[in-house]
Formats: sequence, C-alpha cells, structure tokens
Amino acid sequence: MHPIRMVDLKRQYVRLRTEIDESIQKAIDSTAFINGPDVHSFSAELSAYLDVEHVIPCGNGTDALQVALMAIDLEPGDEVITTPFSFIASIEVIKLLRLVPVLVDIDPLTFNLDPLQLEAAISDKTRAIIPVHLFGQCADMESILEIAGKHGLKVIEDTAQAIGAEYIFSDARRMKAGTIGTIGCASFFPSKNLGCYGDGGAIITRDPDLHVQIRTIVNHGSRVKYYYEEVGVNSRLDTLQAAILRVKLRYLDDFNAARQEAAAAYDRLLGSVSRLRIPARASWSTHIFHQYTLIIEGAERDNLCDYLRSRDIPAMIYYPLSLHLQKAYRHLNYGEGDFPVTESMSKTVFSIPMHTELETEQIEYICHHIKEFLNR
Ligand SMILES: *Cc1c(COP(=O)(O)O)cnc(C)c1O
Repeated sequence: MHPIRMVDLKRQYVRLRTEIDESIQKAIDSTAFINGPDVHSFSAELSAYLDVEHVIPCGNGTDALQVALMAIDLEPGDEVITTPFSFIASIEVIKLLRLVPVLVDIDPLTFNLDPLQLEAAISDKTRAIIPVHLFGQCADMESILEIAGKHGLKVIEDTAQAIGAEYIFSDARRMKAGTIGTIGCASFFPSKNLGCYGDGGAIITRDPDLHVQIRTIVNHGSRVKYYYEEVGVNSRLDTLQAAILRVKLRYLDDFNAARQEAAAAYDRLLGSVSRLRIPARASWSTHIFHQYTLIIEGAERDNLCDYLRSRDIPAMIYYPLSLHLQKAYRHLNYGEGDFPVTESMSKTVFSIPMHTELETEQIEYICHHIKEFLNR
C-alpha cells in the first residue's frame, strides 16, 4: 500500500507527467512568461467547460474575491453577507476593502450558508452576498438568488472548493458552480480539485460590462498600456501555471469522478457506524468532494484524529475556529454563541484523505482504523 496522504499530488503528477512536462516545456520555450498564449487558451477552455461567457484568470482565489468586490462598485461601510464557516479569504477581502462583513450561520447538513437565516441579516446597507460552496457542494443558490433578487443584492460565489460541481435548479436546469450568481471566484491552489503547481485563480461572469471592468482591475486599472482609468491591482495567472492547468482541466471531470468514487466507498464503509455522520448530499447540487468531512458525536474528535495520525492516516479539521471567533475579527463584535451551528461544527467535524489517487486498500485501512477507535 502507498503511504496515505491527505492529497496525493505526487502520484497524480507521475500519472500525467508526460503531458504536463511537455506543456511546461512549451511555455518556457515560448518565453512569453507574462500573459502568454497558454493564459488566453486556458481562459477560453475554462469558459467552454463552465459554459459561461467570461473567465478572467488572476493570481489566486483570494484576489478573485477581492477583485469581484472591487468590480461591483461598493462604498466603504457597505455590508456584505457571508458565512462564518469557511476559509479566511471570504471575510478578509471584505474587511480589506473597508466593507462590513455580516455573517449568517450555516445549514448543518451541507455546511453552507443557511438561506432561512439570510433575510434577517439584510439591512439597508447590504449590497452583496458571498455564498461559499464548501467542501465541493453548492450552497442553496435558488433560495439565495431569490432573496438577493428581492433586495437588489449582488451574489458572488466563492467556488474555490467546487470547480466542476453542478447546481440543479428545481426545474432540472443545471449550471456549473461559479456561473450562477453575478460573479464566481475560483482558486487553483495546488490542493484544490483543479490545482496548479503554485498560485492561481479566476473570476467568472456572464456580464459583458463586468468582464471589461474585471479585466481592467486585474491589470492595474488599465485598458490602454500606461493609461489608468481607476485604481486596480496586479493579479495575473502565471503562464507556466496556465500551461499546467490546460492539461489538468482536460482531466477535471475524471478527477471529480475519482473523488466521488472514493466518497461512495467511504460511505459504504462508514455509513452505518453509530456516532458518525457521513457527508449529506443536497438535492440541488452534485458533490465533487473537495473534502470528505464527517461529524463525530461526543468530545472524541481530537482523540480520534490523533489515533488516526498514529496509524499514519492524516486527518484534518476544516475549520477548527469559526471566522467570527478569530482574533483578527474581534472588532466585528460577534461572540461565542452567535452562530451555534458553525460553532458546533468546528468542534465535531473532521476530514479524511480525499484525492484522485486513493486506492481501495487505503480506503479500507482508513475506515478500519476509524471503526477500531470507535469500538474500543
Ligand atoms: C482556497 C480558498 C480560497 C482562497 O484561494 P487562494 O487561491 O488560496 O487564495 C478562498 N475561499 C475558499 C473557500 C477556499 O477554500
């Protein structure tokens, strides 16, 4: 059995080595290191894959969120709603732009922003909502879009963990995560479902005006070289990363299918274990398992993770401390008890290895040791 890793980028690379090396070599030979042809091709190929008009590559997923917020013309003090159960980037960019993050608790089944609690958080200063499609499954976008529409709010999807997931509307129409709201934000951080070998990100939109605006912002606020229309940033996808992503995009559906297969195997082995809750599947989304996240009842979560690690099984907590309780965000004046579902999740969730190279033997070994711990 191969050593078990949380994400096995090495074995995936070895499998794709010929194609990836060739693509990287071509990019180097071209010496078009900044905004080279691979960047444009990748942008076009990702647009086609997502079935969306515009994909603007950028430096990373955090930049994508920041640029998305810059593109919708907000004023300092405007409120942006998001979830406290996410990676820090979702709230960080709101603060950086002198906007006010307003948090809404999550739905305990999908870990995503709870639309039933959304309206109570909307004020006359609210301008946008950032739902995060956490762990590879879409938030309840139909409900969120309906509320956003009623209040004239923009919806910026954080699809860093859900590239390739599909949202299923109640009339059976399907749309890819990140193409449903006003703007979608993707990350190509190496461990993401579509990961490069460094930093990378993209901003997704159907709106032609926003497309122009976003392209301008990521390019120092410039449309014509050395003429600046507004204050922008420098956020580019590296040509070498684009060369890698072009190869990996061709495998994205296979990658996501491999993750789904691993998840199904985990489900079979862990589904009936008492005190353990396997990931719930929303009726409105496919799940591409950026993470396979379980909930364990009782106060044994950390002991279980230590036990697994002692058997060379990595286990991670996403996320151990809710955003509203982080030191850097104390000034938001939230406190313990404000988001009970999120707080309870941060004490009971744990994620087990999930990637494209998991073998049956590894999955069985992992599940065997989880059960062994619970049956002690
Ligand atoms: C990874 C991630 C980001 C940030 O992406 P980077 O490319 O690391 O900047 C933002 N939001 C979520 C939910 C993420 O998982």
